[in-house]
Amino acid sequence: MKAMTYRGPYKIRVEDKPMPTIEHPNDAIVRVQLAAICGSDLHLYHGMMPDTRVGHTFGHEFIGVVEQVGPSVQNLSVGDRVMVPFNIYCGSCWFCSRGLFSNCHNVNPNATAVGGIYGYSHTCGGFDGGQAEYVRVPFADVGPSIIPDWMDDTDALMCTDALSTGYFGAQLGDIVEGDTVVVFGAGPVGLYAAASSWLMGAGRVIVVDHLDFRLEKARTFAHAETINFAECDDIVVQMKKTTDFLGADVAIDAVGAEADGNLIQHVSAAKFKLQGGSPIALNWAIDSVRKGGTVSVVGAYGPMFSAIKYGDALNKGLTIHGNQAPVKRQWPRLFSHIQNGHLTPRDVVTHRIPLEHIADGYHMFSAKLDGIIKPVITFGGAA
Ligand code: NAD
Ligand code: ZN
Repeated sequence: MKAMTYRGPYKIRVEDKPMPTIEHPNDAIVRVQLAAICGSDLHLYHGMMPDTRVGHTFGHEFIGVVEQVGPSVQNLSVGDRVMVPFNIYCGSCWFCSRGLFSNCHNVNPNATAVGGIYGYSHTCGGFDGGQAEYVRVPFADVGPSIIPDWMDDTDALMCTDALSTGYFGAQLGDIVEGDTVVVFGAGPVGLYAAASSWLMGAGRVIVVDHLDFRLEKARTFAHAETINFAECDDIVVQMKKTTDFLGADVAIDAVGAEADGNLIQHVSAAKFKLQGGSPIALNWAIDSVRKGGTVSVVGAYGPMFSAIKYGDALNKGLTIHGNQAPVKRQWPRLFSHIQNGHLTPRDVVTHRIPLEHIADGYHMFSAKLDGIIKPVITFGGAA
């Protein structure tokens, strides 16, 4: 089969790989119909993620058709069209039984904090991902769901990560009616977080980025106010000015470890790996909320030290929530929001790229060229 493979930082290509096989009775093999590239894949592409091995296939956002099932699989049959959450999880450990699917204790022998993630390095379990013609889906009775008949394929694809994560980011903000919410990052996750914030009662939503074409999308897709941080002397002062000098009630970090905005921090984290991530966006979030406010972190950070202003967060009495999104937990609510027309996730997709050109897709998405917001990977002429 053809699969995207990692060859080292900034180097990927499509290669022939052996077809995945059933390795456990509860595995399924899925023929991929649509996949996506996530901002998280860029951390791998940039060589930021420990133990990303040459030959690894990325891709944790995909939908497809069940091609084969192991003997113990009960919930899926060959031919079913499924959407697969990015988390790989057992569904029955202490954490899974409390809905903490992204913190499953059973699937990842290489780390204790995070569970399994498709195509996300050996740190996240070493499972090959869905930017390939076929993918092995472990715990097939647990993660995947059959795509509802009424659901658009691209909407289903967005539910496998970016939309669920954005919605989760808004949930972690504990938004109450009338709150002012500031979202750092106008990538897909930030855009979905901004749109979701309204659904949770926000009274004002402000999106911060430095890419004008993405801020434009924040205005049209998420109906948010926008601030280009590159055009202000000090984004935190700007935020204070626009919130009666108190600060926002809630800040959502949808940027993560490779944040721009401070050259020294960016270089020390992204280039020299002296920190587990550039703390700029998270520090801006901490500084931009009022005392007693909430910071929600869905932007990804490594396990190592980052110069985060924890003392300020403590002394301001902030509540900080963060996690990898437990994707499937969000689906019942998201399905009804999509069905009712409150969310149209496919409107964030800007590019459709055949698997054979996926290297161009990574390059464009990494360099933010051609107005790219969310690239979708297509297979053999499919949608
Ligand atoms: P993306 O790269 O498309 O978007 C990131 C955006 O942040 C870009 O538009 C960039 O210009 C902007 N940005 C950079 N520095 C900034 C700053 N200092 N302030 C404000 N904006 C800034 O990525 P994405 O797909 O939207 O993902 C966003 C983050 O969410 C990534 O870190 C990704 O790894 C993470 N993520 C986490 C989960 C989870 O489960 N927690 C799931 C998916 C993605
Ligand atoms: Zn992702």
